[in-house]
Amino acid sequence: MSLFLKVWPLLLLAGSAAAQPAPRTASKKPRVVRAARLLDVRSGAFIKNPVIVIENERISAVGPGLPVPEGAEVIDLGGATVLPGLIDSHTHLLARMPETPEGYAQDLITKSQALRALEGAANARATLRAGFTTVRDVESEGAFYADVALRDAIRQGLVEGPRMLVSTRGLGAVGTYYPSGLSPDLKDRPTGAQLISGVEEARRAAREQLGHGADLLKLYADWHHPTLTVEEMRAIVEEAHKAGRKVAAHAVTSEGIRNALAAGADSIEHGHEADRAALELIKKQGAFLIPTIGYFEVAVEEAPNAQARQLRDKRLQSLRKVVALAHKAGVKIASGFDANSARSQGRNAWEVVALHRAGLPPIEAIRAATSRAAELLGLQEHVGTLEPGRYADLIALSGDPLADVTELQRVRFVMKGGLVVRNELTSDTNSSP
Ligand SMILES: [Zn+2]
Repeated sequence: MSLFLKVWPLLLLAGSAAAQPAPRTASKKPRVVRAARLLDVRSGAFIKNPVIVIENERISAVGPGLPVPEGAEVIDLGGATVLPGLIDSHTHLLARMPETPEGYAQDLITKSQALRALEGAANARATLRAGFTTVRDVESEGAFYADVALRDAIRQGLVEGPRMLVSTRGLGAVGTYYPSGLSPDLKDRPTGAQLISGVEEARRAAREQLGHGADLLKLYADWHHPTLTVEEMRAIVEEAHKAGRKVAAHAVTSEGIRNALAAGADSIEHGHEADRAALELIKKQGAFLIPTIGYFEVAVEEAPNAQARQLRDKRLQSLRKVVALAHKAGVKIASGFDANSARSQGRNAWEVVALHRAGLPPIEAIRAATSRAAELLGLQEHVGTLEPGRYADLIALSGDPLADVTELQRVRFVMKGGLVVRNELTSDTNSSP
């Protein structure tokens, strides 16, 4: 019943019919991954001496000390710890912006769509190599439908990157969003999100984005203050839900959150100024919160001077309180690093660490980037855990991620769909006798 299952075979067919350079496909013979232990993210317990059997991109069996099928290729990761491939639920693979106040406008004005797409390929590769085998991309930031193209190129094996769910252009209110401060005389200038006004425009834009390949829609419930009306957002949510897609709502303020939830949004992005009542409403509605807090930790750690550091730290502390409160209220939290610059692409694991520092126990922070994120994406039958039937998307670490979550920032091995993407643990692959 997943969209993946419905869409995937069609895309695979399209790829082979085109007879383009053969995409890298999983080995025909079974593969086996062995390691010292596997973190079962559901139970939070380690499985000792796991054997993971992989056939045709997916896991066919997993358990301690299972027999190795005859003729299987064996990848022995020695003393390493294996986890499911990680999921970033809020990223922008098409964004590689200069980190200056004018950076966003500069990007839109100086870069061609072709360059933006190629930057996306570089960002996708960095993200995958950091251990993130699936992402939910929540707006192309002025790169129009390049996220659809990137997703499809990755699926065809033309570009190395994570599995992607894409939201295309984003939907904001006229007069808001980036780039700001440009001359009103500039007509038809490019904008970050697709800007709309009124219920019919909202509905039309939603249909347009869905028609061009969006897997979900992203809307802005506020931008410094509440913006889109509940009616406008409801039209967007209606169109998305009819098509079996979810809606991610950027909402920082409590009122923005309330409006987005009243319209039926499935997730709240940021929620940085949420009060207790707004958080309880997220919980009550069964929506997800993606706090995007790691970005602020980076800002503190890399502050240019003591004064900036102090100011940024104050903001970080208030964000940590919101995350802790949300966790306590039982809100479902997913990890999203909100990467948008050359420096931030591929540093997605910082968010998992930041969620832990904000009060989530290590296993909860890891779930926010695995099983829980898979639930948000609606892909729990395919990714997020290491079980029979799931894609063979996995990572391995040298240390213990439950004792030190920062181990996730030092991923040593990455496999996606049974193919090794990165391997710093072993130099040889053995075939069983
Ligand atoms: Zn974002």
